[in-house]
Amino acid sequence: MELTVVGSGTAAPEPERVCSAFFITAGGTRVLVDCGPGAVHHLARFTLPWQRLDHLVISHFHNDHIGDLPMLMFALKWGLEQRRTAPLSVWAPPGIQGLLAGMAGIFGDHVTDPGFPLHVHEIAPGHDGPLGRGLSLAATATPHTDHSLALRFQARRAGTIGYTGDTGPSHDVALFLAGVDLLIAECSFPDDLAMDSHLTPSSLAGMAHTARPGRLMVSHVYPQLDRHDVAALIAAAGWDGPVVRAKDGMALRVPFTEGP
Ligand SMILES: [Zn+2]
Ligand SMILES: [Zn+2]
Repeated sequence: MELTVVGSGTAAPEPERVCSAFFITAGGTRVLVDCGPGAVHHLARFTLPWQRLDHLVISHFHNDHIGDLPMLMFALKWGLEQRRTAPLSVWAPPGIQGLLAGMAGIFGDHVTDPGFPLHVHEIAPGHDGPLGRGLSLAATATPHTDHSLALRFQARRAGTIGYTGDTGPSHDVALFLAGVDLLIAECSFPDDLAMDSHLTPSSLAGMAHTARPGRLMVSHVYPQLDRHDVAALIAAAGWDGPVVRAKDGMALRVPFTEGP
């Protein structure tokens, strides 16, 4: 599997980061995970094959995770030199059908009728099934919104990528993500701004201690925390495994064969 960080930001605009989005390829299957504002242009900037996207997976419906969804559909309908015929599958929490209909009402029919087959799947906590061609997707609930999900991508040949989405501290979410090769985790705020719906270095270290990922990638870091050395704070809070701070454009092969 290959992962490219498309967007590692938050609700706070930053010059070098756009909002949450990650691109996974495995066995010829191309998946975009979340589609926050700015994601579509970063797909092009990092020369990712957005034109041939097979699946869009959404963790939850906050603006910083879905804001570019109408733009993605607009690009796939009107931004291609050759009309697309291949289907696109959307996997998202319950409510996605109504959300897409609402977006179509504002932005236009391209959201729900892009000129190629659009297969929309609602995924609830406990979902575990194939995405196609040797890649599967599992989901569990996170303490963040009523429908927010953590996700787990498993390649048949080798490799697992976990994604906390947005979450508060949760032992159950940590157990769901146990043993993944790469865990993409949110870490929103410093410990002195801890809350039930987001993670801090200490709460993420605790979850990592339970999940024991091969590597921890920290994303979705608000400026209040990002002015500190996040990896050092997570290590000081008790997580002794490798930590990498996500950057837009960063690409990793999973399972790992070399640095960083
Ligand atoms: Zn959120
Ligand atoms: Zn968020």
